Amino acid sequence: MKYFSTRGEGKEVSASAAILSGLADDGGLYVPAFIPKPDKTLEQMSAMGYQDLAYEILKLYLTDFSEEELRSCIISAYDEKFDTPVMTPVVQKGGCYFLELFHGKTLAFKDMALSILPYFLTTAARKNGQKNKIVILTATSGDTGKAALEGFKDVEGTEIIVFFPENGVSPVQKQQMVTSQGKNVHVVGVTGNFDDTQTAVKDIFTDAQMAMQMSEMGFVFSSANSINIGRLVPQIVYYFYAYFQMVNSGSITLGDEVSFTVPTGNFGNILAGYYAKHMGLPISKLICASNENKVIYDFFTTGVYDKNRDFVLTASPSMDILISSNLERLLYHTTESSEQTSALMAELQKTGSYRLKLDDSLFAPSFATEDETFQGIKEMYENGYIIDTHTSVAYMAFKKYASKTGDRTKNIIVSTASPFKFTESVCTSIDKKYDGVSPFELLDVVAELGGVKIPEPIKGLRNKEILHKTVCDKEQMKDIVLDILK
Ligand SMILES: *Cc1c(COP(=O)(O)O)cnc(C)c1O
Repeated sequence: MKYFSTRGEGKEVSASAAILSGLADDGGLYVPAFIPKPDKTLEQMSAMGYQDLAYEILKLYLTDFSEEELRSCIISAYDEKFDTPVMTPVVQKGGCYFLELFHGKTLAFKDMALSILPYFLTTAARKNGQKNKIVILTATSGDTGKAALEGFKDVEGTEIIVFFPENGVSPVQKQQMVTSQGKNVHVVGVTGNFDDTQTAVKDIFTDAQMAMQMSEMGFVFSSANSINIGRLVPQIVYYFYAYFQMVNSGSITLGDEVSFTVPTGNFGNILAGYYAKHMGLPISKLICASNENKVIYDFFTTGVYDKNRDFVLTASPSMDILISSNLERLLYHTTESSEQTSALMAELQKTGSYRLKLDDSLFAPSFATEDETFQGIKEMYENGYIIDTHTSVAYMAFKKYASKTGDRTKNIIVSTASPFKFTESVCTSIDKKYDGVSPFELLDVVAELGGVKIPEPIKGLRNKEILHKTVCDKEQMKDIVLDILK
């Protein structure tokens, strides 16, 4: 399997080379030359455990990894770090199915990909004779940062630098990051929003002079953001695994179609669903759920992508994104043209908008307002289940979609974060009396209201020592990177 840049100029590369570089030289994203078909039937795959299923899917994309290498990555990543017997359980609550992707170390779905990416990267470095130390440079809207910090902590041959919007993440998310341990770990707050942070990181990546300087110092950049194809591919696995859980529990019959509703920001998670569909998984619709930053909703409904609008800080910060990176991959796949993709991206950079009537009926756009998000949490609480804000955006977006269309296809809501990460919004949605209570005290309240235990990884969080205090503005990020590495 070869990988190409969405913008067409970079040369074709192997999977390991694409993973190592993160972003293509021309600023585009790597995409597989085609979407492969599994060589096992759905029925055969439905009997597999997560690790074996992961192998069946990953081997189709990472063709230059040996079976031994790939299995070793999988076994190291997907082990008892996940705190449930089934790593990604589908649960049925209040008449809906929820795919819980938050049972990893940092309580967000990012763990699914970022548990395995460090193993991919170090294997890829070895295969490509990369002697320089890999510097993982990451912009985060909250969850990627901590998941990457956990994944790369003390991994030989790597340094990790995470930039997060100082005022754009939840208190629990921030505390998780600034207390991160590990001798190769660096965390920096940025005074802008997530888009500013992500754009500045992308600029550092594509800065040729910076790359030269790095190389002289014995470093090379890579990315843990979802622009890295090594993040995207592992996410395909849980779509299959969720489907097979539905089959094995008797909720559907093998071959029946299901829909997924995905709370969307950078379009990485839902794009993995698109790949799953084209690999042959019976998916009827991918309902793309946005919060009030509904740039993607507007794009799908009007044909105009327009980031020239107010950036709203919502209670679902990991979806507060106006420049949705992975949409570029969908543009490439649907237009089948790197010239067109490249022109659209140039237009976006120049004017902040572009026009394209996307011809793909697989995606159904929907969104939820802040009030609806809070109402969704309360509603599900009354059904005996506590969901986080991002999951609630998806839940409400799905309900709006279903009532508008009358579509009765079985639907799985992709639950991307634990409610323990967003305690203030979750608790005040359920009862206003929690307004003003410290977010860390509210950990106990969420546990009590939900009848569940506080997850192990954040138990002692409130008393942990703050190890990372640097804050900068976006213009200083490059110098900070140099300072850290010197
Ligand atoms: C990252 C994230 C999202 C958005 O996922 P994308 O792949 O960026 O679309 C949604 N919910 C949570 C909790 C996240 O951490």
